Amino acid sequence: MSKVIAIFNQKGGVGKTTTNVNLSACIAQMGKKICVIDIDPQGNTTSGFGINKSTLEYSIYDVIVNEIALEKVIIPTEYSNLDIVPSSVQLAGAEIELASIENREIQLKESINTIRDKYDYVFVDCPPSLGLLTINSLAAVDSVLIPIQCEYYALEGVSQLMNTIQLVKKNLNPNLEIQGVVLSMFDGRTNLSIQVVDEVKAYFKGKVYATIIPRNVRLAEAPSYGQPVIYYDEKSKGAEAYRELAEEFLDLEEDVI
Ligand code: ADP
Ligand code: MG
Repeated sequence: MSKVIAIFNQKGGVGKTTTNVNLSACIAQMGKKICVIDIDPQGNTTSGFGINKSTLEYSIYDVIVNEIALEKVIIPTEYSNLDIVPSSVQLAGAEIELASIENREIQLKESINTIRDKYDYVFVDCPPSLGLLTINSLAAVDSVLIPIQCEYYALEGVSQLMNTIQLVKKNLNPNLEIQGVVLSMFDGRTNLSIQVVDEVKAYFKGKVYATIIPRNVRLAEAPSYGQPVIYYDEKSKGAEAYRELAEEFLDLEEDVI
């Protein structure tokens, strides 16, 4: 049975997609079977794996709005153990289309349950909003992984994020848990980054991963080559950091079982 995890933070540009692409690629390389679902209309996870959105027959849009079976939409990436459910620009209109559908908050949940026996982990890349696509994601998953950027306003919006999680727990998904908090874009040369790390650790108590993702230019370049950083530049600091995060993630998972 898979564990299903949403990469969630309603702020844009905090490292959700970068974490999704690179953490899932590292965990797949370590031998776990992974499916990544890209539910962000921007489709950066889809292109980050080198998939050309314009040539696809189906996308997650068809699953949510047209009730196409999720299994039909899964495509393999060129990396072993790693499949993807691609996004499409049509998703941008899905929020409005969903509004008139019955059970609009749990369209994704029912679909994901049909593939749970095929993967070790399913990662859902959420859009930067609190709309119906995000609610569908939070209703469908077992836990949320929250990336937080090491910048001045890091904790701004976090109470709203926690409120959303509480609301979804209460109304749609009582077992929803926090998988962990990943600090991203850390710049060791600034006091600010160091201060943010302390603040976030104090707020989330034991939930913050010891591995911190540094600001690394290779991480920013890799998507334009359609590659996770461990294939684009395996020796880069970014590749090293995400491999370490994957190891920590799996170690903590084993402790739970
Ligand atoms: P989100 O999905 O939360 O909007 P992204 O993962 O797309 O955020 O990151 C926003 C931008 O920052 C992207 O251009 C990405 O390449 C870049 N980026 C993300 N993490 C890092 C990092 N650790 N070092 C350098 N650039 C990064
Ligand atoms: Mg993104």
